[in-house]
Amino acid sequence: MAMSATSTPQAWNGGSAAARLDDRIEPRQASAVFLDKDGTLIHDVPYNVDPDRITLLPGVGASLRGLQDAGFLLFVVSNQPGVALNRFPASALCMVEARIDELLAEFGVVISGYAWCPHPPAGTRGTSIACTCRKPRPGLILDTATTHGVALDRSWMVGDILDDIEAGNRAGCRTILVDRGNETRWRAGKVRTPNAIVYQFPDAARFILDGMRPRADRPHVAPG
Ligand SMILES: [Mg+2]
Ligand SMILES: [Zn+2]
Repeated sequence: MAMSATSTPQAWNGGSAAARLDDRIEPRQASAVFLDKDGTLIHDVPYNVDPDRITLLPGVGASLRGLQDAGFLLFVVSNQPGVALNRFPASALCMVEARIDELLAEFGVVISGYAWCPHPPAGTRGTSIACTCRKPRPGLILDTATTHGVALDRSWMVGDILDDIEAGNRAGCRTILVDRGNETRWRAGKVRTPNAIVYQFPDAARFILDGMRPRADRPHVAPG
């Protein structure tokens, strides 16, 4: 059902009981897919902000289009310690956003928001207070969800390392690890366990979309 952008107050002007009930129901919240950037959407070039060196990983554009067409909002949530470590200014991230937007526009894909953690990793010299947004903490996801009215229990986090998974799980999302060999520590635990592990981004999108279908339509499900 289509959502209407505006609603007319009906409860106090003699509207029906159904209309009065309707009025008390919260507007339906959006579902979203939160996306890690480096090693998930684009080739990982450490500390890179040069737009010419930003390239999508195979199948990412078409897969995001599929998620968008299914009604998911798309958000990028990314640790960018290069800001705190003086590798590049925070303003350079605008160029990164513009380049990713440009690459995805070819697929008709719109990123609804970018959330960056510009803070250093814990233990960096000269820092004492850990921020609440650096993944594996869930701050980027929680703030984005609040700002954009996202229902976290109907949303997903997709990333290439277990810190992405922990952030998503802590935020209350379902999670998918795209294991491209980038996780090296494999520190385990319930909160670092994804709902699915795949090896290419398109398989993550497929997993999310398969989960939305009525059970009988799902492929790869044994009968009975
Ligand atoms: Mg990554
Ligand atoms: Zn932070």
